[in-house]
Amino acid sequence: MTNQIKKIFAIDLGTTYSAIAYVDEHGKPVIIPNAENQSITPSVVFFDGDNVIVGDIAKENTKLYPNEVVTLIKRSMADPNFLFEYHGTEYKPEEISAYIIRKLIKDASQELGEEISDVVITCPAYFGINEREATRLAGEIAGLKVRQILNEPTGAAIAYGKIESTEEKVILVYDLGGGTFDITMIHSKPDAIDVICTGGDKELGGKDWDDRIIQYLVDQFQVKTGCNDNILEDIDIWQDLQLTVEKNKKTLSQRAKAPIIVTYHGERAKIELTRDKFEELTQDLLERTISLTKDMLLEARKKGYSKFDEFILVGGSTRMPQIIKRIEQEFPAMKPKLFSPDEAVVKGAALYALKLSLNDELSKRVTKHSGKSPAEVKLNDIPEEIVQEVADDAGFTLATVKHSQIAIRNVTSKSFGVLAVNEDNKERVVNLVLKNTPVPTKITENFGTHVSNQETVEIIIMETDVTDKELQPEHAIEIGTAILTLPPNLKTGSPIEITFTLNEEGRLQITAFEVIQAKKVSVIIETSSVIQGEQLEQAKERSRKLMIC
Ligand code: AMP
Repeated sequence: MTNQIKKIFAIDLGTTYSAIAYVDEHGKPVIIPNAENQSITPSVVFFDGDNVIVGDIAKENTKLYPNEVVTLIKRSMADPNFLFEYHGTEYKPEEISAYIIRKLIKDASQELGEEISDVVITCPAYFGINEREATRLAGEIAGLKVRQILNEPTGAAIAYGKIESTEEKVILVYDLGGGTFDITMIHSKPDAIDVICTGGDKELGGKDWDDRIIQYLVDQFQVKTGCNDNILEDIDIWQDLQLTVEKNKKTLSQRAKAPIIVTYHGERAKIELTRDKFEELTQDLLERTISLTKDMLLEARKKGYSKFDEFILVGGSTRMPQIIKRIEQEFPAMKPKLFSPDEAVVKGAALYALKLSLNDELSKRVTKHSGKSPAEVKLNDIPEEIVQEVADDAGFTLATVKHSQIAIRNVTSKSFGVLAVNEDNKERVVNLVLKNTPVPTKITENFGTHVSNQETVEIIIMETDVTDKELQPEHAIEIGTAILTLPPNLKTGSPIEITFTLNEEGRLQITAFEVIQAKKVSVIIETSSVIQGEQLEQAKERSRKLMIC
């Protein structure tokens, strides 16, 4: 590719493993190996004096330095209660995630011999607003320009469309990774990828299958040795079991049994874990994925999608044979396909990143030739000679550049509303944007002031999985607040218009409008869930000064 066209890289920031990819000059997505020559890097961060070590070495040190090693940080994204302190400094999940990203970027830059500045980062479709924002900030703290946050199943569907099948199809993407589960229906067409519906659980993944084995080993150890101690209270044992169990879980994907040795304070027990036992211990977790899949299919049916053509499985945990077996049992007409479990998301995201950079270039050239503003440029209506010109300059085939013109349309994975008081003086969440609405979307609703002479309105913004128009507050979480200052002397019930605008990436913008005196405010969501202001600047500064190994 010539340097006239900005290269954008793709990062899959996973719960247990992460990866980085780009599209090569033949239009093929390629994963860039890390310095240890592996295509995936453990998402494990080891604070080691003035250095931060990420990846395999960090994972190996989990046992030796349990208080200095952070694992599974993705599960804590935007959790205001997360606390990790090292040498007197508190680190938020986005800062720790930034170090994982820096390791990927550093190794990839070295491998390719070029600087990496712009990226697309993937996240579970099921992430809410704050988790998405935290993911974006992780990229920014790492010193990158985050061009977009892309949903993981959309990435997988893009890769599937490019690598496996270009026909028009309705695809179900079942994505079970290390820490999250997403189920998404996608309508893939030659000129567009439409996400129809999405569902899932951001706290259901391979780690939960591991935990079930750990608990079984603890119980069996007690039975076999007669020792009644809770061996997990010994941090060394706990760390050791995490590693052992993940390894043996993978063995059980190939073999019918795995012998595991547990030692504690001189006592030793050999415990044989069979695949049948493992499946029994984790049956309810698998059932939860099936139940979430059925819920999502019900939602899809309401949108006119009662059938699908393909069932694809992505995410490392779909290698467990019981997953495919159970899906075949539930959907006998389907032949579920394991599709590059570790690579599909990042490769699709790389294709998406290429689409972004080619789209930028096409728009720039149309703007230059026609004098149109970038907003007026329609991607599907670009003169052939400009498409050819970009293909020549970028070193891609005409087909690759044309393919970048396909539309990708998403839905919101959550409902968003405000907390309001109804006529009976009871608090209710009133949803403005409902889950599975296509994005971008803009919705305005009218509310009224609660008392006369009210000076301010506190807009409490709520996020929920519930798709009802109104619901009890306990079924939603508060994701931020905003204050609208009112003019004096307003009567009770004076009209206030609240507008929610959700963009393609699931970022929410809120405006409030006091109708009588026509006072409009753009509302900045204040949230304690993600790092902001000075704290953010300090995190960026720390990251700049830090060596990542
Ligand atoms: P991902 O987030 O897609 O990288 O998936 C990581 C998860 O997949 C981790 O929980 C791994 O333990 C799990 N995993 C990877 N390979 C296998 C395998 N062969 N059998 C079972 N689980 C696996």
